[in-house]
Amino acid sequence: MKASKSLISTLREAPNDAVIASHQLMMRSGLIRKLGNGLYAYMPIGYRSLMKVQKIIREELDNAGLLEIKPTVIVPGDLWKESGRWDKMAGEMLTAQNRQGQDMVVSPTAEEAFTALVREGLSSYKQLPFTLYQINTKYRDEIRPRYGVMRGREFIMMDAYSFDKDQADLDASYDNVAIAYRKIFKRMGLNTISVKADTGSMGGSGSEEFMVESEVGDDTLLLCPDCDYAANVEKAACKREVPLNTAGQPQVKTDLAVEEVATPNVFSIEDMEKFFNEKSTTFLKALIYKVYNCGIDLSSTEEYKNAKTVTEGGVTYIPESFFCVVIRGDLDVNETKLAAVLKASGAELASDEDVLKYSGAPHGFVGPIGLKIPVLADESTIDMHDCVAGSGKEGFHIKHVEIGRDFTPFMTADVRTCKEGDCCPECGGKFYMKKGNELGHIFKLGSKYTKSMNVTYLGESGKPVTPVMGCYGIGVDRTLASIIEGHHDDKGICWPMTVAPYQVAVIPVQYKDQMKEVADSIYDELTKAGIEVILDDRNERPGVKFTDSELIGYPLRIVVGDKNLPNVEFKPRTAENAELVPATEAAAKAIQFVRDELAKLNG
Ligand code: ATP
Ligand code: MG
Repeated sequence: MKASKSLISTLREAPNDAVIASHQLMMRSGLIRKLGNGLYAYMPIGYRSLMKVQKIIREELDNAGLLEIKPTVIVPGDLWKESGRWDKMAGEMLTAQNRQGQDMVVSPTAEEAFTALVREGLSSYKQLPFTLYQINTKYRDEIRPRYGVMRGREFIMMDAYSFDKDQADLDASYDNVAIAYRKIFKRMGLNTISVKADTGSMGGSGSEEFMVESEVGDDTLLLCPDCDYAANVEKAACKREVPLNTAGQPQVKTDLAVEEVATPNVFSIEDMEKFFNEKSTTFLKALIYKVYNCGIDLSSTEEYKNAKTVTEGGVTYIPESFFCVVIRGDLDVNETKLAAVLKASGAELASDEDVLKYSGAPHGFVGPIGLKIPVLADESTIDMHDCVAGSGKEGFHIKHVEIGRDFTPFMTADVRTCKEGDCCPECGGKFYMKKGNELGHIFKLGSKYTKSMNVTYLGESGKPVTPVMGCYGIGVDRTLASIIEGHHDDKGICWPMTVAPYQVAVIPVQYKDQMKEVADSIYDELTKAGIEVILDDRNERPGVKFTDSELIGYPLRIVVGDKNLPNVEFKPRTAENAELVPATEAAAKAIQFVRDELAKLNG
């Protein structure tokens, strides 16, 4: 390819909204252009790399026996109503009505579409197992699209769905995809960490995310140095400590009755520590949460015994409810874990008005006693005794609180945010923390969709059976951006050979005379050998051509200048210095270099 015909247009400066390296470099090198907030178009050079990422994904999934299909991006809203996600996903979905007034969804994910497609033709157990996939456009109305294509609104996802006759087969399908994922990311030069992940309101029995470590990562990972435990903080559990009193001893049950203490200027945990001269491990922190679409039965609670429920897709839930969560004073609640234990689609701290309404006191004085709304006790409160807590009355706290005696939690569960230094639940090692970006996700869904959407097959006994599903996703654009995030320097991108837009750039200092002749002949020889090469024939200053080639990041550059002829400069993108080689040997050396680099990654 000739550079003059490639619509190369690089920028000296990245736009202001580009704050991370990959976004800046993708914009500056002209790989992408912005059409709107969270909407990016791939220009010719960028599209080549994007297609290579897709090709690697496709090859490995095909090798693993998955079957590619092409569903539509626009899906009837009725399918989402059947599965029970129409309301739950409303915020994230872009929907429209067609001229007949039928609801349509621009797919944010495709469990419904695949389940409906499989339902059409599935009859016998003999057809199972299989895993279908697509590489296709998705739209999610992200509240805060950012970092360019890392978190766009429209993006490309590889999403796969496995259909199995039972859990054991699902385990095998899941492992099969996990192995393919490892190969995929390795071939692109990405080191991924797989971590345990939240299974959320989707239910399901197992879930892992494939993360790349990144300073600008949206996810927080906790890893154990002593065993292979690794989890997203949204899922991470840790070993429960014995709660200690201020003297560092296990807390001791008290017979003293609850006593009210006037605490007019005590609002925060720090204030409490000073006022009571006690450590925060002796405090019961009580927080009011608003919970969306809680799927657990609350009919035994005072507040919700007659609450209106909604049944959708075979699941019954309360659209909006409030909980008081109590947790040891030195710990924090994780909203994702909270939502997961409540089988809810989300949970957030209640507004000031709601706090007052449901607890009788403003934030800071909320207490667990005498509430109508259910109290959820974090596991950290097990074995806590003689605690200090909010009184439920402004300006007062209470002492000598005993859980079980003074109030009874509706349920006890693990909802704390684990952090660095907490102990691994499996071996007791001390967690360390990393930031990461999620590139891929694998998830054992079970029968959630096949049940709600009535999919069955005839089992060996002749009776209808519900198949179990797994779902698997890779963010194609995010993967591309992460490759750049992990492979760049201050001059530009340093593409791994497998995903480079072109493998070799041939740059004549000036495209004329002998330089033109030599450059053309190297270009021809490389092209004949099947190497992807770009010839910079533009009438630009040599400095511009060099800067562009480093910014765009071709893995190998061959510079043909009359000062060096009959030698040419041979410079891998990441090499410190160029090497002079005879022009007649340059192509052969480049072919070898490209093949070696490909073999290292594909190996
Ligand atoms: P996140 O927590 O980052 O929002 P998610 O849990 O919503 O991700 P999944 O529903 O598991 O993501 O989607 C599968 C993959 O699609 C993700 O692993 C990620 O790589 C990609 N992805 C999700 N949302 C976006 C987005 N807004 N822009 C680009 N890629 C995305
Ligand atoms: Mg998301």
